[in-house]
Amino acid sequence: MIVVGAGLVGVAAAWWLQSHGHRVLIVDPGGGSEHGSGSGSGANLNGSQAALGVLMARVFHRSRGRAWRLRQQSLDLWEQWRQILEGRAHPIPWRPGLLLLASDPAELERQQALVTDPMRQGMGLQLWSQDKLAELSPAGPAAVGGLFSESDGQLDPGLTLHALLSDGIEAGLCHQSGRAVALEPRGGGWQVRLEPGGVAEAEWVLVCAGVASGALLEPLDVLEPMEPVLGQALELERAPNDAPRPTPPETLWNWPGAVVHGGVNLVPRPDLPGGRRFWLGATLEPGLRADPARLETLRELGGAAPPWLEAAHERGRWQGLRCRPQGQPAPLLEQVAPGLLLLSGHYRNGVLLAPASADWALRWIEGAGKRS
Ligand SMILES: Cc1cc2nc3c(=O)[nH]c(=O)nc-3n(C[C@H](O)[C@H](O)[C@H](O)COP(=O)(O)OP(=O)(O)OC[C@H]3O[C@@H](n4cnc5c(N)ncnc54)[C@H](O)[C@@H]3O)c2cc1C
Repeated sequence: MIVVGAGLVGVAAAWWLQSHGHRVLIVDPGGGSEHGSGSGSGANLNGSQAALGVLMARVFHRSRGRAWRLRQQSLDLWEQWRQILEGRAHPIPWRPGLLLLASDPAELERQQALVTDPMRQGMGLQLWSQDKLAELSPAGPAAVGGLFSESDGQLDPGLTLHALLSDGIEAGLCHQSGRAVALEPRGGGWQVRLEPGGVAEAEWVLVCAGVASGALLEPLDVLEPMEPVLGQALELERAPNDAPRPTPPETLWNWPGAVVHGGVNLVPRPDLPGGRRFWLGATLEPGLRADPARLETLRELGGAAPPWLEAAHERGRWQGLRCRPQGQPAPLLEQVAPGLLLLSGHYRNGVLLAPASADWALRWIEGAGKRS
């Protein structure tokens, strides 16, 4: 089978299919697997290399329906995949724990309802009081309380992509550099025309090309409306004087994981040089053009940014495109023609949902599937 697109969704599907004994070729024009390669003026078409890797499943605001099921299944699969990859010397850097701050009493009330929700018992959710939040070092953004989840967390998307691809290639996954320019039915299967040259044929083709998926399907009269939503993010470094010195690097952050405030993720990266760095993101900008002013607004956290955040130095900035389905819920997982599967439209949660999407494709191909 052929997987078109080597973002996290395509690589996860290729790896999972390969792990189940299928022969897989993955094609993608991109060579850069470096995280944040979308920095600079042009928009990075690859969402995965821009993502912050925050996985939000247990704290999802709904407790039933497709989106809830996919999120829970995906978080469970990530745990399983981490163990498999760890055992094969391709560990995925994973930091458990996610703290959602409540900026007003109404949000705190919604968080309370999640903790007492019967569907979430045993999932490790706790309400944090303001006193408990006061113990955070460095201090978090101002909040009236918070919801802590011990099993949600954050992984490094670039390193994860690399781990899955390397492990797959060692097991026989074929990876070819090339852009799919046409998909044509051929003898009960599909032919994929590639640029700069060549064709590949297979019984099954998985279209995992993110925002480019719609254009690939259009000539087949398959209309799957989707739109790009650009996201910008920052890597920042705390100023040397924002903690008493000398401070051992391991005590620079006592956060229980990534922190979310008003939909913005603050991701400590003590593993990066100096131990003082963190990621902040991301903006939501419909279209293809990044507005630099949105990064300033992002840093202000709606007026709740603590002084150490205001004083932090910028170490890097990047941007990427999310693919948002129009008129349908994310993600788009469907057979659009016999043997042709679409795995796209993951919008803001493609890192989280990559394993569940891969598993959906596996089940479909192995005959047990139905539209998710
Ligand atoms: C700033 C930012 C932060 C984010 N943070 C998070 C987060 O914390 N958690 C989370 O779960 N999600 C997050 N997301 C969303 C997540 O990144 C996306 O949902 C996810 O990366 C989608 O993966 P994908 O593989 O479908 O698409 P992409 O990563 O966009 O990959 C598509 C691939 O297809 C290739 N391609 C395109 N056209 C062709 C063609 N014709 N032939 C062959 N290959 C082609 C591209 O080169 C690319 O490699 C974030 C996104 C952004 C932008």
